[in-house]
Amino acid sequence: MKITDVITHQLLCDVQTPFTSSRGWWYKTKGAMVVEIVTDEGLIGWGDCYGPASVAKSVVDSLLKPSLIGRDPFDVEVLWEALYNKVKDYGLTGMTISGISGVDIALWDIIGKATGKPIHKLIGGAFRTDLTAYATGLYFTDMSRLTETAVEEALGYKAQGFPAVKMKIGLGSMKKDLARIEAVRDAIGGEMLLMVDANHCYNVPQAIQIGREMEKLGIHWFEEPVSPEDLDGYAEVSQALDMQVAGGENEFTKFSFREIINRRAMDIVQPDVCAAGGITECKKIAALAQAHWVQCVPHAWGTAIGLAATMHFLASLPECPPCLVPQPPMLEYEQTYNPFREELGGDVFSHQKGVVKVPTGPGLGIEINREILDRFKVA
Ligand code: CA
Repeated sequence: MKITDVITHQLLCDVQTPFTSSRGWWYKTKGAMVVEIVTDEGLIGWGDCYGPASVAKSVVDSLLKPSLIGRDPFDVEVLWEALYNKVKDYGLTGMTISGISGVDIALWDIIGKATGKPIHKLIGGAFRTDLTAYATGLYFTDMSRLTETAVEEALGYKAQGFPAVKMKIGLGSMKKDLARIEAVRDAIGGEMLLMVDANHCYNVPQAIQIGREMEKLGIHWFEEPVSPEDLDGYAEVSQALDMQVAGGENEFTKFSFREIINRRAMDIVQPDVCAAGGITECKKIAALAQAHWVQCVPHAWGTAIGLAATMHFLASLPECPPCLVPQPPMLEYEQTYNPFREELGGDVFSHQKGVVKVPTGPGLGIEINREILDRFKVA
């Protein structure tokens, strides 16, 4: 089998309610970059690149595509290395790796379709076919009703049966953050897991100080307490706190994660399959984590394609550590309106009380709705 074409689809939609996090930029639109790889046998594979869509499109079109035409999709790791070695002189991390990630996912989709197997069957099998999902939401929307809206939203997820919810923090005042976290904790009760995501808005002493207070509220993990460049800071925060420190959504390739894991800078690493290097690279990152007894719980914020790829990857992750009552890695299930997640791949992701079934069809196990692709395509 040979690759005959690599087509990129840059998508854009309006969001229903503009929102922000501690990063401070308001999301009024959502973008996506979908990769379509075409073969001479008529099989098509789909991939998803994380990050600014126009940049990812340019990376795939100009840097990666020429190296893929005429190649066999089954040589997925050979191609990964070829692409990586082609782009490494222009930036070892970031958007070039995001481009490779989308290509890698599309290649696995083709391999699955060619063999009639879901991707998880090709990467070691499923340790679990039901994934426990946690709801990601509680962004900052109405700045005059921050606590009220967070409580209302969290109670909505509880009513839907989600066993866990992750909220955004980082309001520029520890007092405000803690009051809002406490209100959500009080509202949902002690049984439901509650995680917080600071999107790296704190410095080390602030992160440790608020972390100690959050420990009293039974927060399950503290995501991105400090800036991703500050690995020493991450290690300090992780050592100072009893609670789990998570991060890694803005890290790329096994080389970045090697440093994090070696230095025990995080208790939970969160590679994104659409950013950190695709399924091929994330399996290696997960192996590095497992070898150091660090949990791997992937970040997911993409389209139906990215979500499906994440689900196959999650299915293939061994328990860490294996035991009578293990804590399987949870699926990040973003809850803001996104037609690229909800409509692009059909209705395979609906959850039952926070449990989502890993797709079982060939490849990613989803059918792409070209009408949605055409409706939102801007380039
Ligand atoms: Ca995050």
